[in-house]
Amino acid sequence: MTAFLNDPVISKFLRYVAVPTMSQEDVEEIPSTKKQFALAEMLVRELKALGLSDARSDSHGYVYGTLPGTVDPSEDHPVIGMIAHMDTSCEAPDEPIRPSIRLYEGKDLLINEEKNLYLSESQFPEMGLYKGKHLIVTDGTTLLGGDDKAGVAEIMAALERIVNEKKPHRTIKVAFTPDEEVGRGAELFDIPGFGADYAYTIDGGRLGELEYENFNAASGNIFIHGINVHPGSAKGKMVNANLIASEIIGKFPSNETPATTEKYEGYYHLLSMQGSVEYVKLHYIIRDHDRQKFEARKAFMQQVVDGINEKYGQGTCEAVITDSYFNMKEEMMKHPEVIKKAEQAFREMNVPVITQPIRGGTDGATLTLRGLPCPNICTGDNNAHSRFEYVCAEDMITISGIIYRIWTD
Ligand SMILES: [Zn+2]
Repeated sequence: MTAFLNDPVISKFLRYVAVPTMSQEDVEEIPSTKKQFALAEMLVRELKALGLSDARSDSHGYVYGTLPGTVDPSEDHPVIGMIAHMDTSCEAPDEPIRPSIRLYEGKDLLINEEKNLYLSESQFPEMGLYKGKHLIVTDGTTLLGGDDKAGVAEIMAALERIVNEKKPHRTIKVAFTPDEEVGRGAELFDIPGFGADYAYTIDGGRLGELEYENFNAASGNIFIHGINVHPGSAKGKMVNANLIASEIIGKFPSNETPATTEKYEGYYHLLSMQGSVEYVKLHYIIRDHDRQKFEARKAFMQQVVDGINEKYGQGTCEAVITDSYFNMKEEMMKHPEVIKKAEQAFREMNVPVITQPIRGGTDGATLTLRGLPCPNICTGDNNAHSRFEYVCAEDMITISGIIYRIWTD
């Protein structure tokens, strides 16, 4: 087990998770928390020590660096970037993280004797995949930060290996971003300054996952205007916005919600409702992988509102529908070599590729649509955002090997 402590991927990972970097919702500035700068500065120091003389972090905590190529530049070697995020989720405490490396022999793994906490296969069935492997676990009181410091460590270890082995390689770009967990990691990303032809985010998920499809997303707010009158003399006068709201909700298909859909099935999700007789606001989100179906969902919401206005009079309600992000697939299909490159590296490491649609968005999707093709590669992390988060040590080493192959072949 101590052999793992000497492995560069694992030793780096343990060093990075010791730096708390929780990001925070509803903060205007990027980074949303000052403590993310500590890890950014640490990474810049390490990149410089590896000889990346341009390594830098900007005033928002984004870290960038270049390892100039050693192969003949007259041959066509695209510049490939690797990107991971430094922040961790605010859904579980982030300090003090007390990680330990444990051989998983199946069934229950005791992670905190004093509090009697276990990681158990009955609760997390996918643990069965890891029997006989080593897991890095928490003590059950904090998250681990494998999302996404596993990605950071895998990139840094691959880079270190290339520098140490003096193996010929293309020009390499790395970037580490703040505030991914609050949906803002791509916002101030400097694509021209980064200078890659294409890139991969190394983030989340089980060994083998390679993702380049995500939801199209919109938010839809429906505002309903009623008329309040004393209930004792309301006959023929009162218009109760609450009742109209319930009529509107009833028009949406009950089998197209997050709780009734999976894989490529889209949905309408009623996130919140606030209301009185006078006024109700319904906040929906709309999701679909298929662009046409996504547009049809938005049109359906508008039709529902139009129908209500016909019934109760114009101006009774209105919908404000705003696009949030789009599926990267369409754009990615214009760059099939980016997917092929990753698939080939997976094969060379004997890792079967698992491609499944992401039921959410990624920073890579935003970057792809901004012009930097950027699919996502797994990290080996499980139970992200949880006190029961764990990462498989052997898988982290394999994934670092995949990154190394992408950069050196
Ligand atoms: Zn992540």
